[in-house]
Amino acid sequence: MSYELEPFHRDVPNDELLTDLRRVARELGKNQVTFREYNDKGRFTASTLAGRFGSWNAAIDKADLQRTINRNISDEELFVNLVEVWTALGRQPRSRDLRPGPSRFSWNTYACRFRTWRNALAQFVKWANEGKLLPESNLREEKAGRRTPRNINWRLRALVLVRDGARCRLCGATPRDGVRLHVDHVKPWSKGGETVLENLQVLCNVCNVGKGDVELKG
Ligand SMILES: [Zn+2]
Repeated sequence: MSYELEPFHRDVPNDELLTDLRRVARELGKNQVTFREYNDKGRFTASTLAGRFGSWNAAIDKADLQRTINRNISDEELFVNLVEVWTALGRQPRSRDLRPGPSRFSWNTYACRFRTWRNALAQFVKWANEGKLLPESNLREEKAGRRTPRNINWRLRALVLVRDGARCRLCGATPRDGVRLHVDHVKPWSKGGETVLENLQVLCNVCNVGKGDVELKG
C-alpha cells in the first residue's frame, strides 16, 4: 500500500469512493467486498476508504453492502461459542441452532470458516481433544509441587460436555427441562480435587446447589 497516494485522494468526494466500492462489488458479483478484494480491484486503497468512513465496515455500511464475516474471530472463539450453545441446548447443536440468541455467531460464520457443519464439529472435537495434553502438563505441575488451576478452561469444558452428553450427571436433566448446566469439580478444588477430566462433571443448577461442599463419588 502506498501512502504517497493518500494526499492525492484526499479531495475525492465520499460519493465517488462509495461508487467505486459498489462497482467492485458488481464486478465480483456479490454484495460483499473484503478489504483485500478492494485493494486488488479498487481505484483507491481500502485504507483510504476505511480512513474516510472511520472503518472498513463503516464504508461497507455506507455503500449499502453487506459486512463480511469478521476476519478477527479466532477458531478458539468460535469453539468456545459452540461450547456455550451446546451447554444452553443440552444437546449437540445443529447448524440451524447457530443464530442470534443461543449463539453469538451466525451459521454463516462457521460455514465461511469450516465449509460444512460436519467439518466444523470435527474441528471442534479435534480442538477439544488437544486438551488431553493437559493431564501431562498437570503431572509436571504436580512434580513441581504445584496444583492445577481452579479455573476450568474451555477445552476441558468441551470435553466434559461431550463425554457427559450435555446433561446433568446426577439427575439427567438438560436445559430442555428448564435447568442450567455447569461444569463442576467432583472432588472440590478447595479440598484438593484437581482440574482434570476425571475430576470434572456436568451438573444442573439444582444438583449443584444440593451438592454444596459434599464429596460425590464420580
Ligand atoms: Zn441435576
